[in-house]
Amino acid sequence: MDNYSKIRKTTQFTSLAVSSVIFIIALYGIFTHNDSYFEIGLLLFGFIIVGGILLSPILGRFWCGWLCPRGTFLEYILEKVSKKKKVPPILRSKAFKLLIASILGLMFVMVLLDMNPLLTSEDELASLGGFIVFMCIVTTLLISIPLGLIYMPRTWCGFCPVGYAQSLLSKNKILKISIEDCKNCKKCHSACNLDLCKDSTGKSNTMDSPDCMACMKCTDSCKIGANKPVISLKTA
Ligand code: SF4
Ligand code: SF4
Ligand code: SF4
Repeated sequence: MDNYSKIRKTTQFTSLAVSSVIFIIALYGIFTHNDSYFEIGLLLFGFIIVGGILLSPILGRFWCGWLCPRGTFLEYILEKVSKKKKVPPILRSKAFKLLIASILGLMFVMVLLDMNPLLTSEDELASLGGFIVFMCIVTTLLISIPLGLIYMPRTWCGFCPVGYAQSLLSKNKILKISIEDCKNCKKCHSACNLDLCKDSTGKSNTMDSPDCMACMKCTDSCKIGANKPVISLKTA
């Protein structure tokens, strides 16, 4: 049963294509110093990010698993060349997530206060857009890709501030992965990009982690159909 993987891949690559166009519009704005193009790119980016975060109280990290272009890039492009070493626990720790979120949050506030350390423009909206686009490029090139080459391809997604915000908001999400009649064969463990299945199979009747991206790779990898997505209003 690999139906979810096929639908998900189509969704991910459609989102990646749309986002790439938006990104190019924003980059065109930067290189030509044309704030109008830049703002169009920024507004669309803002819509995507806010849309992703607004979905999380209902769907959890569905955005990360199904729509985020950077997640798609890391998952499919780095997959082929990554050494896939186990992710060091410190990179998944709450302290590290808070540290990264604080650093990027502080820089964001500096931009809002007209203290943009990276890109400046007379137009505040364009300046903010410059910061977001610039940080996407810098964090991808300097953090996400190097870590993904050494450790699991989506190591960045374990502490990315946007993903972390979704985890914090998704405690009462209604889209869950249920586990029933599990034989604890552990086949699904290696399918999970974030190494979450081992924390739940044989112990719980749902994939409990708020970090779960509902990617349903574990569902597709289970040959006896012991785990599947469900819509449930019950809180954990
Ligand atoms: S954790 Fe961040 S980079 Fe990864 S999929 Fe989610 S929003 Fe995208
Ligand atoms: S959910 Fe399925 S694949 Fe995962 S441990 Fe249980 S039986 Fe095995
Ligand atoms: S637990 Fe399953 S659905 Fe959740 S992230 Fe891991 S593989 Fe995807």
